[in-house]
Amino acid sequence: MSIQEKVPVAAEAPTRRKGYVWVNGEMKPADQAVVSVFDHGLLYGDGVFDTMFATHGYIFKFQEHLERFRRSLRATRMSLPIPESDLEQVILDTVAANGLREAYIKVVATRGESPEPLLDPRNTVPTLIVFVRPYLSLAGAGKRETGLSTKITATQRVGHAALDPRVKNLNYLNLVMAKFEAINANADEALLLDEDGFVCEAPGYNLFAVRNGVVITPDRGVLEGITRETVIEICGELGIPCTIGSIAPFDLFVAEEAFLSSTAAGLIPVTKVDGALIADGRPGPVWKRIDAAYDEMQRSGRHGTPIPA
Ligand code: PMP
Repeated sequence: MSIQEKVPVAAEAPTRRKGYVWVNGEMKPADQAVVSVFDHGLLYGDGVFDTMFATHGYIFKFQEHLERFRRSLRATRMSLPIPESDLEQVILDTVAANGLREAYIKVVATRGESPEPLLDPRNTVPTLIVFVRPYLSLAGAGKRETGLSTKITATQRVGHAALDPRVKNLNYLNLVMAKFEAINANADEALLLDEDGFVCEAPGYNLFAVRNGVVITPDRGVLEGITRETVIEICGELGIPCTIGSIAPFDLFVAEEAFLSSTAAGLIPVTKVDGALIADGRPGPVWKRIDAAYDEMQRSGRHGTPIPA
């Protein structure tokens, strides 16, 4: 079983979560880790984050995740309460403290607490949180086998002129609202349009379509997903044509295949859009080849940073 097949069994009461959380310089038991109710991350979504995973004893593409996190910090003028050069070690220490070999790793930086008036972004004391959880697939049980049914939602992705989606930021409310639209339509996942009416992302996932044997992923208005980059890399290695372009709803309706990519779920086929089957409604061969190569890449430790003992 690959790590992406792990699905929730029973919810742990949030206040009883086990493990350790690094917060503002201290490693705390998870149920004692706190931040202020006046934190800008909570009050305004004024923060950025990154999500990574570890499997087979390695953190996958750790440096790539760190670089993306630094870009998010830079683009939002966010600072850390520690020197940026210490961040890598803090994350490694938190992974080690939690003793998990297969883990979901999250690093969150917020503008923190400010003097009043509260919305003023100046003179704040920034917050940094690192936590590690057992890895559980975002996609849910059995979805790798059946594929996801999706709904193209009325809720659009926030446009780059409002808030660039390349910043991995804490403003997920529009993604949550899109998810509710999908739930109300009895679909597994939402697909959001960009301002030009092209399909860009699902909540927490990048999107791929396969048309005429070519793998396509949107060129803009999306997060620079690490898994997306990995799919492009794998296509190169396997000699599968891959282009960065645009995906209209039309392209999905007539696609041979479609799939989503995410750190928190791996590669998940999409087999239905707005009630219509994609091709024969089953996960396709191109997805299968790329997924197998992704699994092999994780097992091999290639692109992996060893988890410290
Ligand atoms: N798009 C959005 C909006 C996301 O939140 C995520 C995952 N956090 C992705 C795409 C996938 O990115 P990655 O492959 O780096 O997990």
